[in-house]
Amino acid sequence: MVPSFRSILSLSLRLTHTYTLTLSLFLCFKQVLWNAVAKALEVEDPESLCEVSMVGTPLTHERFLRRSYGTYGPALKAANGQTLPFAQTKVENLLCTGDSTFPGIGLPAVAASGMLAANTLTSVTNHLEMLEKIGL
Ligand SMILES: Cc1cc2nc3c(=O)[nH]c(=O)nc-3n(C[C@H](O)[C@H](O)[C@H](O)COP(=O)(O)OP(=O)(O)OC[C@H]3O[C@@H](n4cnc5c(N)ncnc54)[C@H](O)[C@@H]3O)c2cc1C
Repeated sequence: MVPSFRSILSLSLRLTHTYTLTLSLFLCFKQVLWNAVAKALEVEDPESLCEVSMVGTPLTHERFLRRSYGTYGPALKAANGQTLPFAQTKVENLLCTGDSTFPGIGLPAVAASGMLAANTLTSVTNHLEMLEKIGL
């Protein structure tokens, strides 16, 4: 999606604070990230070198993804013995996929959970046969 003569820089900062942070505080975190970039690239104002600059906060995720508290990724409690969530649920034939069902965040987690669901539906041997049939 980016022209070959341009680059995308995507930065994330893990927030462990409570959700009651104000937008201005989120923007302070943004500055923390830019400071880290400035240090890494050894330039004074890296943001001024950007053609497009966008900041996403948990508020963004809440708004666009409708995630509770703007978060994603499954809430696993190790203390309760919870392990990786698989696609199956207690309801027969109901499978779960998406960024809240596989550890990690974003599209890689979505894709991985889709594969888990597919593998739950049929055997790997069947997958291989189907892939061969369609020439992959
Ligand atoms: C600003 C922003 C930037 C991002 N950048 C990146 C990035 O750079 N890299 C990356 O990997 N990820 C990124 N993500 C995260 C990524 O978009 C999500 O992790 C991904 O879209 C989640 O996919 P999903 O299929 O689990 O859920 P969604 O894409 O949220 O799909 C859920 C679908 O279910 C529908 N739905 C919800 N409730 C109901 C209901 N009751 N009935 C019927 N339908 C319903 C919704 O309308 C939606 O279409 C970004 C997200 C945002 C908001």
